[in-house]
Amino acid sequence: MAESEKKQSKQIAATSMMKKIMADHFLGLDQESKDGSRKIAWCTSVGPAELLHALGFDVYYPENHGAMLGATRMATELIPAANAMGYSPDICSYLTADIGAYVKGCTPLTKAYGIEKVPKADVLVYNTNQCRDVQDWFAYYAREWNVPLVGIHTHRNIQAVEDYHIADLVSQMKSMIPVLEEVSGVKFDIDRLREVVALSLECTKLWREVLECGAAVPAPLTFFDATIHMGPAVVLRGLPQAVEYYKILLAELKDRIANKVAAIEGEKHRIYWDGMPIWGKLRDLSNQFSSLKTNVVASTYCSSWIFDAFDPKSPFESMARAYTELFIVRDDSYKEAYMEAWIKKFSIDGIIFHDAKTCPNNSNSRYMMPQRMRDRLNLPVLVVNGDLNDLRCYSEEQAKTNIEAFVEQLDEKVG
Ligand code: SF4
Repeated sequence: MAESEKKQSKQIAATSMMKKIMADHFLGLDQESKDGSRKIAWCTSVGPAELLHALGFDVYYPENHGAMLGATRMATELIPAANAMGYSPDICSYLTADIGAYVKGCTPLTKAYGIEKVPKADVLVYNTNQCRDVQDWFAYYAREWNVPLVGIHTHRNIQAVEDYHIADLVSQMKSMIPVLEEVSGVKFDIDRLREVVALSLECTKLWREVLECGAAVPAPLTFFDATIHMGPAVVLRGLPQAVEYYKILLAELKDRIANKVAAIEGEKHRIYWDGMPIWGKLRDLSNQFSSLKTNVVASTYCSSWIFDAFDPKSPFESMARAYTELFIVRDDSYKEAYMEAWIKKFSIDGIIFHDAKTCPNNSNSRYMMPQRMRDRLNLPVLVVNGDLNDLRCYSEEQAKTNIEAFVEQLDEKVG
């Protein structure tokens, strides 16, 4: 594509505020890690973060670090270091990039915030609702630092969330409390947990509203914007900063809708993206879609941080439900109905499935779902082969050509 043909989507003004609160988050963790002023818990991205905040921990999310390694394109260079230790190139490339970065002594936090290394965990807390890789990932650091590793084992591949799932998860969560109290030195207080869950609920409602702005025609934001602006929903939920931020972002997007301001000028087509982002190629893909006047307006990935079930009146049960209702936990029949609802609501013209080589958990194209969705909704589908972080698994030329041909197909459909 000639330079002159390259188009970028319209920038979101709230981005500078988001950068500031994310910087404060990382700088705070760095300080606490250095002076020991506060205990640090590592938590999986859809783990029981509310419980950790209620027990006084500051919370660090390694998957966010994995995504930063991907977005800065450091990952592909670092993954081989973990492979050489015995972590297969076929397993989660967040894990291999993160452990590779640790053994090589580097982090994207240095360039972004002047932080030398990731904050050391006092305790590691996982939830297997998304995959087993997170448990193995955290186990590496538990051995390395000789700190406690605790976790929740969620029922997976389920259709409906049953009462016995919730009862089991509540008892697993409660059984972690003595270990967490011992590490933090803070006594568990149910009222504090209620306050944190209330903040998470507010954050999740606002994040849903932000994403639902994408249903407007033309859409005021893109999937690529959402992958950046989801940062606070991932790492700051349960804290007031996330709530304040999404109020500001939402106001800006509503203003765009009122004034028919499109994220992509001349929006012609609207796409649903299923699967992980290709972090190292976000900008290139965003520019390609902009040039094709096509907006990826909705995704499974970004909506995975909507937790409708949070309820401060029943904090444990509602957390158990919120972290089990997730798309990734469910069977294909649930996933297909879920996608259909979003696709209809967002006036989607075509679906792209990203088959991420190292994340089967977030790749839904391997058991005939694209064909079923094509037939069910009479929409064109495309499968893009790639990876979240390991760019050795991604053929840029092939993806570009396939996306171009896919959009031509949409052009023909419109007539
Ligand atoms: S869900 Fe996928 S990307 Fe996320 S931690 Fe698990 S294997 Fe890695």
